[in-house]
Formats: sequence, structure tokens, C-alpha cells
Amino acid sequence: MTERFAPPPAHGCSKTPVLKERGQHEVFCGLTGIIWLHRKMQDAFFLVVGSRTCAHLLQSAAGVMIFAEPRFATAILEETDLAGMADAQQELDRVVSELLTRRPDIKQLFLVGSCPSEVIKLDLATAAERMSAQFAPNVRVLSYSGSGIETTFTQGEDACLAAMVPVLPQTDARELLLVGALPDVVEEQAVGLLEAMGIGPIRILPASRVSDEYGIGPNTQYALTQPFLSDTHEALQRRGANHIAAPFPLGEEGTTQWLRAVADQFGVSDTTFADVTEAPRARARKAVAQASEALRDKSVFFFPDSQLEIPLARFLTRECGMDAIEVGAPFIHKAVMSPDLNLLAEGPTIAEGQDVDKQLDRCRAARPDLTVCGLGLANPLEAEGMTTKWAIELVFTPVHFYEQAGDLAGLFSRPVRRRDLLKLEAAE
Ligand code: SF4
Repeated sequence: MTERFAPPPAHGCSKTPVLKERGQHEVFCGLTGIIWLHRKMQDAFFLVVGSRTCAHLLQSAAGVMIFAEPRFATAILEETDLAGMADAQQELDRVVSELLTRRPDIKQLFLVGSCPSEVIKLDLATAAERMSAQFAPNVRVLSYSGSGIETTFTQGEDACLAAMVPVLPQTDARELLLVGALPDVVEEQAVGLLEAMGIGPIRILPASRVSDEYGIGPNTQYALTQPFLSDTHEALQRRGANHIAAPFPLGEEGTTQWLRAVADQFGVSDTTFADVTEAPRARARKAVAQASEALRDKSVFFFPDSQLEIPLARFLTRECGMDAIEVGAPFIHKAVMSPDLNLLAEGPTIAEGQDVDKQLDRCRAARPDLTVCGLGLANPLEAEGMTTKWAIELVFTPVHFYEQAGDLAGLFSRPVRRRDLLKLEAAE
């Protein structure tokens, strides 16, 4: 099955000592996830309980939605709330009642915590329980934290999905659950490949509507499609569901191994697997080969941001011919990351957490050909002559599964090619 790939490395990175750093870190907050989650969950509303800064973040990130019927908003904590002079719970009850009266289309409401609501210790979990009882059975109210105090931007989706797992009903049905919010077109491709192998029923977390929901139980077989869902993974484990461990479906190899792991769990034969995957694999291989020409033998350095860093390093080193110098990830959950770490050949520094000044020093000393980092670091590094890729683009762009493998390589090769062209022009 993996005959066209390089054999797995004799020594992968799963046993490499991890450089753990705890210092100043440069990341976006988890509110960002609302931008893609509200598109996936058609009857949900996200009510951020936060400050004007939180409202500005959401409005600027989701500016394109300004004329649509909004499915997220910010309940702004005023100075009187922050100073404890007003009863913020009462205010929240009033805001939610008004919202749900005006918007009967909302079937699931998320109260989303922020840095300010956490600083004043506003108990949104209890508020959600109280409101769930009040508005049942028409509306389900849940809460999660999107705060950026100690988190990174992809944790918002993880916290949201983890909040849903305990309220899903119990079932004994043997079903495949795909966990993670993918763009619709990518999700359709994944489901199409799996159904073509005879695998089903297939469920998705998050479901697009509350009425589409299903149960969870010991016969639920789940596969993560995003590497940043460790809390959701733990919540599913607590429900007794079975995790199908696999490299993440990024690039031809990651997608093939991910599909193979799911197929094995459902007893799909090698012949059926080959029949379904041969053609898209060939397309992916060709597209990656074309798009990755500029990446061959170039070096890459990852700052911790999206939590996609380890699977991406695996893709860039094994399929695009790059050398990884440092792979920094905000958090490394071994059960989730081991399949990718096993395929990533020993060599790069594997770092967890961040002490940004020390990491910048290491990056400047290494002078990588490409640095993958957050928005806040990209411009200063570009000004120092480094070539960068914004990590957040990787979450907003369809990059999973076969048909997107070439685009994924292209996201990294574009800045490298641009830099090569600029160097050529400067030399002429
Ligand atoms: S949650 Fe925190 S980091 Fe995010 S916008 Fe609000 S104040 Fe800023």
C-alpha cells in the first residue's frame, strides 16, 4: 500500500526528546474558530461573552459575512460588569432571551468565553445549564472557552466539539464518526471515497444541524481529520468510542494511510481499496510533484501556531523533499500525533510550547529557506529577509485529502518561488 512512498524512517521522531518551552508566546485566540464553525453548523449561534476587542477580532476576521443574517455576536462586558458592579449573569439571561425570541431558527446556542469573561470568572457552564433547562427542547445551550490567555487559535474548535460530545445520546450502533470541521467540498470527497469502499453509516462531528445528530458508544469508530482535537479525542474516549489512529490526511501519503486505517477497521479488501484510491492517488502524486519542485532540498522551520505543524513537517519532508530544522507545536498529544511522528525522520528539533525570543534566536541562526509562523511574526521576519508562510492560511484553505494535495504543496512553494524570483531580479 505504501510501496510508492519512501519506507518509514528507521528512527522516527516519536522517541525524540521534546524541547519543552514555557515563555512568551505569539498566537491567535480560539475565537477565530467561530469563523469556520458557524458555516458548518447551520442552526447554531455563537454568542461570545467578551470585550470590544473580541468583537473587533470577529468582525474583521469575518468581514465578508457582514450582510448575511449573523450567526455569531459578542455580548460586550462593560466596565460595570468587569468591576463586579452589575450582575453579568442577569444581563446574559436578558440578552439570550431576546436573541432566542427574535431568532427561532437557532437550535443550538454556544456561550463562548473570552479572556475578559475568564478574568472576572464569569461561570458560563452554569449559565448554559440554566438556559438549556429554560429553553429545552427547542434550543440546546452549551458553553466553551475561546480565550487566548493560554491557548492557540485552533483550540476553539476543539473546545466547541468537546462540549458537544457529552450531550450526544448513547448508541450501540457500529458507525464511523469523522471528527473535525472540513470545508464542505473536502468533506464530500472524504465521504465519497469511504462510501465507495462500502464503509458506513458515516457521521460527522460537528453535524450541520442538531436534527442530524447521532449517538456515541462503544461501537463508534472515530477518525480525527484535524490534529488539534485532543480534548474532543479525550471526550470521545470517555464515552467508550474507539479511536482509529492514523497519520492525518494531508498529502498523498497521509491521505492513503488515513484511509487505509479506516478501511482496515471496516474490513475493506486490498482490491477494493486499490480500486477506489488508485486514480485520486495518481492525481495527487502528479499535482504534488509539480507544485513542490521549488521546495526540493530547501529547509523549513515551524513556529508553534496551528497545531498542524507535525503532520505538515511529515508531508513536506517525505513528499516534497524538504529538510525540517525545527518543528514547534503548541501542544503535542502523543496518542494523536504518534503516527505522524513515526513517519517524520529523526533530525529536526521537536519543540512544544514557546519562548518566542529563544525560538527567534534559533530561527535566525538557522536561516531556513521557509519559516511557517503566525501573522505577528511573519512581517518582522520578512523584514529581516526571511521567507514566511502564515500558519493561519492552512486552516482557512482546503488542504486535506487527495484533490487538495497539490494545493497544499503550492501554499508552501509560492513564497519560496517568489523569493527566488526576487533574488534573480536583484542579481540582474
Ligand atoms: S478572547 Fe482574549 S485574545 Fe481573543 S480577542 Fe478577546 S481579549 Fe483578545
